[in-house]
Amino acid sequence: MSRYTAVKGMNDILPPDSLRWSRMEEDLRLLAARLNYQEIRTPVVESLELFQRGLGETSDVVQKEMYVFEDKNGNKLALKPEGTAGFKLALKPEGTAGVVRAFIEHSVGIEKPGPHKLFYIGPNFRYERPQKGRYRQFHQFGLEIFGDPTPEMDAELIYAASMILDHFKVKGEIRVNSIGCPACRPAYREKLIEYFRPKAEELCGDCRRRIDSNPLRLIDCKVDAPRDRWNDIPLITDHLCPQCASDFERLKKALAIFHVPFVVDPFIVRGLDYYVKTAFEITADTGGTQNAIAGGGRYDNLVAETGGAATPATGFAIGLERLLSVVPEDFYGMQPLAMGFALFDGGVADLVHLTKHLSHHPVRYMAEYTPRKFKNALQKANKLGARHIFIFGEDEVKNQQVLYKDLATGDQKTFGQHEVMAIVAMLMDKEIRK
Ligand SMILES: [Zn+2]
Ligand SMILES: [Zn+2]
Repeated sequence: MSRYTAVKGMNDILPPDSLRWSRMEEDLRLLAARLNYQEIRTPVVESLELFQRGLGETSDVVQKEMYVFEDKNGNKLALKPEGTAGFKLALKPEGTAGVVRAFIEHSVGIEKPGPHKLFYIGPNFRYERPQKGRYRQFHQFGLEIFGDPTPEMDAELIYAASMILDHFKVKGEIRVNSIGCPACRPAYREKLIEYFRPKAEELCGDCRRRIDSNPLRLIDCKVDAPRDRWNDIPLITDHLCPQCASDFERLKKALAIFHVPFVVDPFIVRGLDYYVKTAFEITADTGGTQNAIAGGGRYDNLVAETGGAATPATGFAIGLERLLSVVPEDFYGMQPLAMGFALFDGGVADLVHLTKHLSHHPVRYMAEYTPRKFKNALQKANKLGARHIFIFGEDEVKNQQVLYKDLATGDQKTFGQHEVMAIVAMLMDKEIRK
């Protein structure tokens, strides 16, 4: 064993899994392009303050899960769960804050009118207890829309999320809520504080500390599970201002027109302070339990709070480790491998030639240029799981031919060396029929 191993909670992505990853990423890019999202790539490191502002000082992410850097020794990775005082840089724990920072910095919203539809795909970092589906380096795909205040755009965004579920044949449940706005949420917060304060003794430590600072988080506490314990918790959906209530109705109406199946769940609050109005989550069965694989919502105040001009915004992110864990195993089939061999030195040049020609076509092929006996070639191909082999022996070279053998059926056939198109057509035909 090597003296070096991957850092705890961070994973290598190896073949054949890496193939599933890259094809999933390709599919996500294509789906995003259909609704005119363009890619944005932001650095892995941002200023710590950006996340403290955007996510809120009281969020779990900022309080417990940030990877922060020493300021002078840029590459000295330090973790200070007890506090981040004195630190100025952080590995990004989520995708939105960096996108917002770039949006403001490059005046994207000023040069052209909205809506600006952006997507990102890449790694995030959180210091969490590693467990199945939860890693310290994890990957997200996200959509962000700037400059459109309408609930119909929220519905389109949720529709995009449901297109992703459909594309990957994932059975997920889409749960939507409105979490109000600065006009109606403060009164609701007070209601929650009033409700939970007499129950403080029955709550977990986190919730007891958060009653006054972030009471909304109490209602989705995984430890206390208040929705199962009490049936008289004040619900945000009963405390929306007229504007939020009418926007929520418009959202539900548009979702119905998009044919997106959804349920209203007033217990969805999202962990982050910057959401207003629309909030949603997608849960799926990730091996016995329902887990959130995606979430998002409207964050109309984040751009202004981050120092930009007031810009309505909405977005969502999907965890790629979790998505991949619910994509059916056979969703991406691996193309069967074809291999080329020479049986003697005089066959190598023709073998090189075949490699060159097949390299122009979408077939999975590789050659071995060290000559070997026919039996050895078969053994090697079997070991590598190849289905097709091409052989250059003395007769084939003399006649400008190549011998083909299908290792699955035992069929054998001779092609002229110039019949590349016929060879490719045969390989692709077998690919489809399996
Ligand atoms: Zn409101
Ligand atoms: Zn709790």
